[in-house]
Amino acid sequence: PPKLEVRNISKTYRRGGNALTVLENLSLSVPELEFLVLLGPSGCGKSTLLRIIDGIESCDEGQIILDGQDVTGQTGHGRGMVFQSFELFPWRTTLENVAFGLEVGGMGKNERLEAARECVDLVGLSGFENAYPHELSGGMQQRVGIARALAIKPSILLMDEPYGALDVQTRDLLQDELLNIWEREKKTVIFVTHSIEEALYLADRIILMSPRPGRIDRIIEVPFARPRR
Ligand code: ADP
Ligand code: ADP
Repeated sequence: PPKLEVRNISKTYRRGGNALTVLENLSLSVPELEFLVLLGPSGCGKSTLLRIIDGIESCDEGQIILDGQDVTGQTGHGRGMVFQSFELFPWRTTLENVAFGLEVGGMGKNERLEAARECVDLVGLSGFENAYPHELSGGMQQRVGIARALAIKPSILLMDEPYGALDVQTRDLLQDELLNIWEREKKTVIFVTHSIEEALYLADRIILMSPRPGRIDRIIEVPFARPRR
């Protein structure tokens, strides 16, 4: 069975008298351990789809099936999300930010901090446990974001243009770090980007989302063998 199934998802944003359909009867299936990239121009609905998969955005129709379970409209069931803008709490340290997702899980404080420390090590931030976000570079802040997503031991990692706010050198570095983590930790990844270059470098398989005026109803699968730098 696939790791994740997106079944017939439709989504229309309504605001005042306006309606914008961004996803129409969209389905896709993600096998275990795949590194899937959703590629498409800005505004085509990539982020909406990822947020629906994560459960932080509702959909009008369809189901999200993770590990055989219907998780439509629910958050916190095995999905770790990484955002373009990092979304760290400025008044929390690296360790506290990473441990945050574990607070809802009912773990004791020491256990949480221990689990967080492992993830901080995993992203190469040992020594920065007690730093606050403003003391860290952009790349380091996003490493915290990745550690936080990994801390909940997600069965799938969802990444929404995670390197879009970083300079090119930092982006290249974090791409390589991510591929290492992906291989070592054996995760299924869905990675959203509008960069063809980034998609070609990271993906096992690229799903190209094609925009039509006001909606998407087509995805093109491009099977791809990853080139290495
Ligand atoms: P992408 O991630 O591909 O750039 P998005 O999913 O962010 O695309 O957005 C798809 C379309 O939906 C865009 O036209 C965007 O302006 C619109 N949109 C996104 N979020 C909302 C919202 N909360 N309310 C209304 N329109 C939205
Ligand atoms: P970024 O952190 O944005 O990826 P750099 O890797 O160039 O950019 O880091 C900026 C500064 O922070 C450099 O002085 C670098 O030595 C330091 N730094 C970044 N990551 C680490 C790390 N894991 N351990 C120690 N120092 C680091």
